Amino acid sequence: MEEKRTEISQLGEFGLINRIANNFSLHQASSLKGIGDDAAVIDAGDDVMLVSTDMLLEGIHFDLSYMPLQHLGYKAVAVNVSDIAAMNGKPEQIVVGLGISNRFSVEAVDALYKGIHAACENYKVDLVGGDTTASPSGLVISVSVLGRTRKGNEVYRSGAKDKDIICVTGDLGGAYIGLQILEREKAVYKANPEMQPELDKYEYTVSRQLKPEARMDIIYELADLGIRPTAMIDVSDGLASELLHISASSGVGVRIFEDKIPIDEEAYTTAVEFKLDPFTCALNGGEDYELLFTIRQDDFEKIKNHADIHFIGYVHPDPKQNVLITKNGNVVPLKAQGWEHF
Ligand code: ADP
Ligand code: MG
Repeated sequence: MEEKRTEISQLGEFGLINRIANNFSLHQASSLKGIGDDAAVIDAGDDVMLVSTDMLLEGIHFDLSYMPLQHLGYKAVAVNVSDIAAMNGKPEQIVVGLGISNRFSVEAVDALYKGIHAACENYKVDLVGGDTTASPSGLVISVSVLGRTRKGNEVYRSGAKDKDIICVTGDLGGAYIGLQILEREKAVYKANPEMQPELDKYEYTVSRQLKPEARMDIIYELADLGIRPTAMIDVSDGLASELLHISASSGVGVRIFEDKIPIDEEAYTTAVEFKLDPFTCALNGGEDYELLFTIRQDDFEKIKNHADIHFIGYVHPDPKQNVLITKNGNVVPLKAQGWEHF
């Protein structure tokens, strides 16, 4: 008899994760939150420990023809720290798993770890372990991070309430547009190796792809202002996808105004140059590692003048109504494209 075979692409990444999650229940009273948020939450007395892991694969997440190893090392740490930020926590330790082939020299590993070191200094996290193994050809880097916050101070994707204000930090779409620039310059270089890549005028946008930063600065500022977001997630897959995660986890709907979505000017003009809609890039691009969070209306006064926090919409009670209000005033359903690796 033929065995049943289901393609992973039929389920998609999130469908696959749900399928895994549905087969497991938690045994330990200390496992306060398992699969389904930016990090797991573990009881640690007066505190909670936060645990998250993210893996970067050559050929899927990065291309070494334009990603310098030093930047890659930094990014591998930053994207993990970002998940701790998204829980309203402080990162403390990382462990690093490395799969490496003989294509790479000791100097290449040095360069990778120079970036990891810079990130450890910047975020004040300690590299406390890892694992090193041979890989047939590609480079694999897997980082796990431990973080901490006072119990009750952690923020889940599930806490958004009717009438909360939806906020996003920084600007969106840049990382995706930066990738388009790098891919184009790679193609130009392949066709004619004499050509020097023209990246100067795209410096900021390219840096969004190569040098993402976890927004720990925002976490510290919110704490200083006495604001605890009601729900939070980091923007790794794209604004639309993350909004739908908050909607599904919180059992609420979101209404977003297209003209409120923050887009950097350089990224905007570059998107247009590439015949891409800047708003589509911002909604679905991903990898910006900004923070998306909701606050109670009472907290608005405290941050309404913050230069790097933008108010893009509000929460409403119907979880089935997730909409984008376009510049022309049309109300369209919010759809997530996100990244499809499968
Ligand atoms: P993020 O984008 O914040 O890193 P993901 O979308 O990767 O989050 O993961 C969503 C949730 O699913 C997280 O709780 C993560 O720990 C969990 N998860 C992802 N992949 C697996 C897996 N293979 N096995 C168990 N849990 C997983
Ligand atoms: Mg995340």
